[in-house]
Amino acid sequence: MNLPTPSFFRVCVSAAMLTAALGWAARAQETAPARDPRQPVDEAYSAKIKQYTTAPYFTSPLVDYLPASKTVPTPQAVLGDVAGAPGVLPYAEDVYRYMRMLEKATPRVRVYSIGRTEEDREMIAVAISSEQNLKNLEENRARLSKLADPRTIHLDDAEADRLVAQAVPVYYITGTIHSPETGAPTALMELAYRLAVDESPYIREIREGVITLITPVTEVDGRDRMVDIYRWHLAHPGQFWPPLVYWGKYVAHDNNRDAMGVTLKLTENVLNTFVAWNAQVLHDLHESVPYLYDNTAGDGPFNAWVDPILTDEWEMLGWRNVSDMTRFGMPGVFTHGVFDTWSPGYLMFIAAMHNGISRLYETFGNGGADTVERTLDPQDYARTWFRQNPPLPKTLWSQRDNNNYEETGLLTSLHYFDGNKRLFLKNFYLKAKRSIGKPAAEGPAAYVLPADDPRPGLQAELLRVLAKQKVEISRATAAFSVTLPAKKPTRGARPADAKDKEKEAAPTTKQFPAGSYIIRMDQPYSRIADALLDYQYWSPDDPQRTPYDDTGWTFGELFDVQVTRATDAKVLETPMERVAEIRPRGGVIGTGAAFAINNTAEPALAALRYRLRNTSFDAAEEPFEAAGHKFARGSFLLRNADAAELNRAATELGLEVVALSDAPAVKTHPVRAARIALLHTWQSTQTEGWWRQALDLLQIPYDYISTQAVAKEANLNAKYDVILFPPVGFAGNPITVINGLPTDWGNPLPWKTTTETPNLVGKNDSTDDVRPGLGWSGVAHLQEFVEKGGVLLTVMDTARFVSGLGFEDSVVAAQGQRLKSIGSVLRTAVVDANSPIAYGYGDTLSAYCDNGPIFTLTSIVGGRGFRRLGGETRIRPTGRGTANDPDFTPGRAATETPEEPHAEAWETPPVTDEQLRNGYRVIPPAERPRVVLRYADGKDLLVSGLLEGGEEIAQHPAVVDAPAGKGHVVMFSINPVWRGETRGSYALVLNTILNFDSLDAGRKNAEK
Ligand SMILES: [Zn+2]
Repeated sequence: MNLPTPSFFRVCVSAAMLTAALGWAARAQETAPARDPRQPVDEAYSAKIKQYTTAPYFTSPLVDYLPASKTVPTPQAVLGDVAGAPGVLPYAEDVYRYMRMLEKATPRVRVYSIGRTEEDREMIAVAISSEQNLKNLEENRARLSKLADPRTIHLDDAEADRLVAQAVPVYYITGTIHSPETGAPTALMELAYRLAVDESPYIREIREGVITLITPVTEVDGRDRMVDIYRWHLAHPGQFWPPLVYWGKYVAHDNNRDAMGVTLKLTENVLNTFVAWNAQVLHDLHESVPYLYDNTAGDGPFNAWVDPILTDEWEMLGWRNVSDMTRFGMPGVFTHGVFDTWSPGYLMFIAAMHNGISRLYETFGNGGADTVERTLDPQDYARTWFRQNPPLPKTLWSQRDNNNYEETGLLTSLHYFDGNKRLFLKNFYLKAKRSIGKPAAEGPAAYVLPADDPRPGLQAELLRVLAKQKVEISRATAAFSVTLPAKKPTRGARPADAKDKEKEAAPTTKQFPAGSYIIRMDQPYSRIADALLDYQYWSPDDPQRTPYDDTGWTFGELFDVQVTRATDAKVLETPMERVAEIRPRGGVIGTGAAFAINNTAEPALAALRYRLRNTSFDAAEEPFEAAGHKFARGSFLLRNADAAELNRAATELGLEVVALSDAPAVKTHPVRAARIALLHTWQSTQTEGWWRQALDLLQIPYDYISTQAVAKEANLNAKYDVILFPPVGFAGNPITVINGLPTDWGNPLPWKTTTETPNLVGKNDSTDDVRPGLGWSGVAHLQEFVEKGGVLLTVMDTARFVSGLGFEDSVVAAQGQRLKSIGSVLRTAVVDANSPIAYGYGDTLSAYCDNGPIFTLTSIVGGRGFRRLGGETRIRPTGRGTANDPDFTPGRAATETPEEPHAEAWETPPVTDEQLRNGYRVIPPAERPRVVLRYADGKDLLVSGLLEGGEEIAQHPAVVDAPAGKGHVVMFSINPVWRGETRGSYALVLNTILNFDSLDAGRKNAEK
C-alpha cells in the first residue's frame, strides 16, 4: 500500500473543499416553490381555491393557483367544482373516473388496478412521472428490484452506487383508509393534476425525479358508505346524520391495525403494490389532528426491529416538512407528538418492515365537506417544544384548507425527497443489505418451525401470513439440530437450587426432523419475520405511559405453534429448499368404515364439521389409541361418513383422518353443527367485525343479528343454539348496550340502503334507526334463551354485561385497579381438561389480554365481594408457638381445629357447613361455574408486551363456563378472536359452538 504523497493530500483536501462548496452552492440553488410565469393559470379554478380557503395563511405558493392545460382536464371535470369545494365529496368511482381521464389525456399518468375489496370494489394505484420515466418503467423496476434484493448484485456496493445513480425512486401515497377522514381523495386528484401539468421548476423536478404512486381511496367500501352518509346529511339540512356504523365490511378504524396479520384485502393490496413497485416510501393520509401532524417522527418507544437508518430518515423528512411549511407561514404544522412507533400493525408500517420509509399525516378534517367554525381543545393549540407554531384555538375551517395542507405537505415532501433521492435510494439498498446481514450482525440466524408440530394447520396459517409479507420460507431436506444458548435466570428471581442453576447455565441442543420449516434471516424482508416471531417487552417504567396500541403480539405464541429462535448460524447450512406453497398434509389414511380425527384445537376441525353438515360426528370424552395412533380428548369419531367426500374435505382443510375398522369403545357425545347467531350493537361494530371475519374465512355459517332484533325476538331458542356476543369495545358499557342512544330528542338515524344511500348496507345489517338498544325486553329474551338451554358466549365487556345483569350467579367481573395489560400476550393454564371447551389444548395457552376483566367466583348468591381481589390473608392471632402452630387455652383440654377451607384464586370457594345451614343462598354444586382456563401464576404470566399490577389478575379465571337454567353462559376475560392474530385461541370459541349441548361432559361437581 502506497503512502499518500503530499500532492495526493492536497488533491483530497481541495476535493473535499470543492464538495463542501458545491454542497453549499447546491443548497443555495434549491429551487424555490413558485409558479412558472410562462404557464397560464386556470383563473376561474384559482379564484375558487381562494374563495374556499378561509384564511390567507391556510395556503401556500404551491397550491394557491392551478396551472391551465388545453388538453388535461382539471378535477372540476368530475367534481363540478374545485378539489375541496364545500358540499362536494366524490365516490371512489368518481375519483377513478378522473384518474382515468388523466391517463387518457397525458402520457405522464398511468392507472393500475391493484385488487378488489371484500365487497368487490376496485382498488387502484396511479403512477405520475415524466413521460420518459413512465416509458422506462420496466428498466427502472429492474434497477430498483436489484437494490431491493442486494443478493442479486452479490451485495456489491459499487454496483449499488451505479444503480442508485440511475434509478428513479417511487414515493407511494395512500388516501382515506379511515372513512370519516374524507379529504384525501380530492387532494390527491388535484395533486395528480399538478404533478402531470405544472411546468414550474419545483414541480418539474418532482415529476422528472420521482415516480409518485397514489392510491386515492384505500378503504373503498367505507368511502362509498361515508359519501352516502354525507349526501344524506346534505339532503336533510338541520337534522342529525347517522354515524358511520360500518366502514369496511368487517372493521372500521382497525383497518389500520392489520399490517401484521394481513387479513384485510386493502392491506394485502397495498402491501403487494408497495413490494411490486419496490417503493421507497409509504405515506398514509389521515385526518384527526389540527392542522398537520406529521407523526413520522413519533414518540418512543420505537419499534425494536426497525433499522436505525429508518428512524433517522423519519426525523429528516419530518422536521424538514415542518420547516418548509412553517416558512410558508402555515400555522399548526408539527412532528414528534405523542404517537409511539412500537406496534408494526399500521398500514404505513408495511414500508418500515420492508426496507422503505413509513410516513403518516394527520391533517384536520371536518368529516365531510362542510365549512365549519371549529374550536380546539387547549391541548391541541398549546405551544410545546415540538409544536412551536401551534394551531389557532378557534377558526373557520374548510375541506379546501385541509386539501391545501395535504397537498403542500406532500409536494414539499416529494421535492425534498427528490433533492435527496440518491441518499434515500442508497439507504433503501443499505437497509435491505443489512436485513440480509442479520444472522452475522444482531441475529437471529433463523426461526425454525418443526415438521412434527402437533398443529400443522395453524403452523401453515402462520407461514402463510409470512408468505403474504413476502418472507421467503424454506424447508429442511434432512434432520438437523440447533444449539440454543444457555437460559439466563429471570431478573429479580430468587436463585434456584444448585442443580437448577447448573441446568440453566448450559446451552442445549434441539433436534428438528426433516421437513421442518426454516425462516432464514439472511433475506431482504427478514425484519418483518423477526418482528412477528420475536417476543416483545414493554417496560412498566417506560416514560411512555399511554401505549398507542397493542404492546405484544408474538405470533408463534398466539397461533399456538412452536417457533424456535435460532441464533446459531450453523442452522443456515442445513440442506433446505424454498417452499412455494404451504399446504399441510390432509386426507384419509388407512382403510375402515369408521374414521377418527385427532383434536389439536385447530380451527379447521370446526370448518370440517360445518362442511359435512349431513354427516354425524361424535367427540370422544377421553383420550384413546387406535390403529397405532394416539387421539386426544375431544377427537372426532365419524361412523357413517362418505369416505370420498370426507377425504376431499380433509385434504382441502389439511386435516389428517385415520380410517379404523371399528370405532373404539370410548364414551362420546354428538358434535352437531350448532345454529349460530352473532350479536352486535348499533353503537359499535368494529371489535365483533374480527369475529365475523374469522367465521367467514372458516366458512362457518351464522346469522348476524342486532340487539334491536333480539329485543323483538321472543323465542331465540327456536332459531339458535349458540349466541356469540363478542366485545362491543367503544360504547360497551351495559347501560349503553341496553338503552342505545337517546330517542327523546333528535331525529331517527337510519342505516338503510335507499336511492339516497345506495352503498350503506352492503352485506351487513340495516335498521330504521340506529339509536334504540337491546332494551329490557332484549335482556329478558337473552336470559330466557339461556334458561331454556341456549349457550351465550360473552367476552370482556359483554362478560361484564351478563355478570352485572345476573344472567348467572357465580361470576364477579371486575375492572382492575392497578392492572396494566395493554394488548399484551399473557399465559393461561388449562384448569379443566375435561371441559369440551378445552378440547385439543395442551397445559398452557398464550392469549390476548387487554386489561381483563378480572373474574372471581362465588358459591353464595349475593356473596359477591366475599373475597377481595388478589385473595385474602388470614393471620393467626398472637399466642403460643410459631405462626403455623395451634394456640392453646391454659387449663383446658386441647381441641381439634377444623381445617380452614382454602380455595385458589381461580376456584369457587368451598361451602362451609355453617353456610349450608338453611343454605338457600348456596349455589348447588351442579350450578356452579366450571373454570376452563385460568391466568398463570404472577411470575409466569407475561409472555409479551406490557404487564404492570399483574398480581391482580394472576391465577384468576380466564375462561369460565357458568351453567344458568338449562343453558350456559360462557365468559372470556381474554379476547380469543382479535385482528387475525390470535388463531391459537379460536378453538375455545369453536369448541363451545360444536359442543353446545354437551358442555357438561366430564364435569365433576363439588361434594357439597
Ligand atoms: Zn385515521
